[in-house]
Amino acid sequence: MTHSTDTSVRQPVLSVRNLEIRFATPDGEVRAANGIDLDIHAGETLGVVGESGSGKSQLFLAVMGLLASNGRVSGSAKLAGEELVGLSARQLDRVRGGQMAMIFQDPMTCLNPYLKVGTQMTEVLRQHKGMDRAGARRRAIEMLDLVRIPEAARRLDMYPHEFSGGMRQRVMIAMALLCDPLLLIADEPTTALDVTVQAQILKILADIKRELGTAIALITHDLGVVAGLCDRVAVMYAGRLIETGPVDAIFKSPGHPYARGLLASTPRLDEKVHDAELPTIAGQPPNLQRLPPGCAFAPRCPHAWERCTDELPLRRAIGAGREMACHLELKQ
Ligand code: SF4
Repeated sequence: MTHSTDTSVRQPVLSVRNLEIRFATPDGEVRAANGIDLDIHAGETLGVVGESGSGKSQLFLAVMGLLASNGRVSGSAKLAGEELVGLSARQLDRVRGGQMAMIFQDPMTCLNPYLKVGTQMTEVLRQHKGMDRAGARRRAIEMLDLVRIPEAARRLDMYPHEFSGGMRQRVMIAMALLCDPLLLIADEPTTALDVTVQAQILKILADIKRELGTAIALITHDLGVVAGLCDRVAVMYAGRLIETGPVDAIFKSPGHPYARGLLASTPRLDEKVHDAELPTIAGQPPNLQRLPPGCAFAPRCPHAWERCTDELPLRRAIGAGREMACHLELKQ
C-alpha cells in the first residue's frame, strides 16, 4: 500500500507542538527538549541534525513512547491526528510497530539473536495484523525482497548472526516496514556501516519513500546523509530547533550561526578537503541542567551581542518554508 504524498490536502503524518522533555536526575532536572514544533508529511523525509546531546534522539524516543523511566513529556505529538502524549503503554504498543516504527544504528536493538528472522517477522504480523502463518510468511518475503535481500525465502530460516552487518540493517528495515507504517524513524541508521553499505542503505530508504510514500524522520549528525536523502532539515541545538527549511536552501545559505558552523565543518563531495583542514565549532554545548535565559549558543557564537545573552531568540520565518531562532538580523 502507498500513502498519499499530496501535502496540500492531507494533514501531516506527524505533527509536534510545543513538546518538552524533562529528565529527573539526582543532580537536577535535565531539559532535553524545549518548545519543539515540527510537521512531517507523507512521502517526505525530514533530516534532524545536531551534535550529540542536542535532543534529536530523545525527541523521537518521546514520540515513540520509549523515553527512559525518569523522562517526562508535555505538549503534543499527533500521528495522523491521534494524540500520542499521554497514551497508555498498551495503546502505544498498538501504534508502535503498526503505524510508526523506529530503526537504530545497531540492528540487534530490534532483532532477537535467538530467534530465526522469519519467526520474528511473522510474529509481528500475527500480533499487529492478525495474519495467519502462511500469509505472514508471504508478506515477510515480500518485505525482504523490497530491501533487496537475495533468496529471501531461504533467509527467513536463518538467525540474525548469520547475516552480515549491512544485511542485518536491511532485515531491521524490513521488520519496521512489515505493518506498512505511516512514519519510519531512523536514528543514525548508517553510522556504523562502511561507505559502500551506507550508500546501499540510503538507496533503500529513498526507494521506500518513493514507492511506499512513507514519511521518514532521519536523525543524524552526518550532513552528507541529509543532502543525499532529505527534503527538509531541522537543526537542533541544546534541545531547541534553531533552523528549519528545505535542504537545498539551507545548504546553499544557512542562516543560523550554528547551522553555518555545522555546514562549514562538513566535507563537500565536490571538493577535495582533508578533515584536518575543515573548520570546527569551538567550545562545548551547554549543560542542559543549567540552560541560560538567552541563546544557548551565545558562548560559541562569533556574532553574539548583548541581546543574545539576555533574551531567548524565538523562531521566526526567514523565507519560503524556512524558520530560524536567532537575534542576528536585529543587530545594527
Ligand atoms: Fe549567535 Fe545571538 Fe544568533 Fe545566538 S541569537 S546564534 S548568540 S547571533
